[in-house]
Amino acid sequence: MADRTTGGQRADYVIHRADCASGTHSPVLATDQEALQLLAGPDETLTCAVCKPEALLRHYGA
Ligand SMILES: [Zn+2]
Repeated sequence: MADRTTGGQRADYVIHRADCASGTHSPVLATDQEALQLLAGPDETLTCAVCKPEALLRHYGA
């Protein structure tokens, strides 16, 4: 099943910050700027619970 389905767990993107300490830098390892762009974009995204890239949005006041 390669289809991107709705519902359930989706992991099309797991966004990590470049300095993430989780050790699982896949499938996406983003710079701060890339993380912001991904978070602001239309794609469904998951954020890493370790490095919390979504905190960037608050940091930058977006
Ligand atoms: Zn991470």
